[in-house]
Amino acid sequence: MASKNVGLFGPPGAGKGTQAARLRELLNVPHISTGDMFRENLKNGTDLGKKAQEYMNKGGLVPDEVTIAMVRERLTRDDVKGGFLLDGFPRNVPQAEALDKMLAEIGHPLDHVINISIPDDEVKARLARRATIEGRADDAMPATVQYRLDTYKMQSESCLIYYRPKGLVRDIDGLGTIDEVFTRIVRVFI
Ligand code: AMP
Repeated sequence: MASKNVGLFGPPGAGKGTQAARLRELLNVPHISTGDMFRENLKNGTDLGKKAQEYMNKGGLVPDEVTIAMVRERLTRDDVKGGFLLDGFPRNVPQAEALDKMLAEIGHPLDHVINISIPDDEVKARLARRATIEGRADDAMPATVQYRLDTYKMQSESCLIYYRPKGLVRDIDGLGTIDEVFTRIVRVFI
């Protein structure tokens, strides 16, 4: 299967992580989630985790220099040579521009940006449910959820404006069962 350099895009709760877990099996590529990387660093008490913590707690973006350096290091590893699934990065235009440069350097430009959409009310309902299941602090507080949603609309959605003229964006309706949404995503690769 060709075209395996993929970005997953969508608001919090759109199902990026859930769909990524399936897509990584289908494409046989590593799943690179910046949110997961930050959470792992937080759990292990690393300097990176300490830098990210206050931003994550509020629901805002970790500063670009920290995030971009973390992704740059990850993309130098050998396992991305056959493709990769980027989840939660880029989240603003400077990150998208930095990613373009990094990918040009390693010779693996993005093939698809999969944009999963769900309405705001559904975001809030899903995150409230996830808070009780996964115990993520940033899902539990309505004010933090709202801030993440606002951050997505103000900063992250502009990435789509950046990628659309390049013909990379594939729009996916994120409503429905996990299987239904996955079936829609799989069509991108057929
Ligand atoms: P996520 O699991 O993707 O919802 O990310 C959880 C939190 O990690 C976000 O609310 C941000 O604080 C931080 N984060 C994840 N990805 C990025 C990114 N690309 N840029 C800045 N902060 C990020």
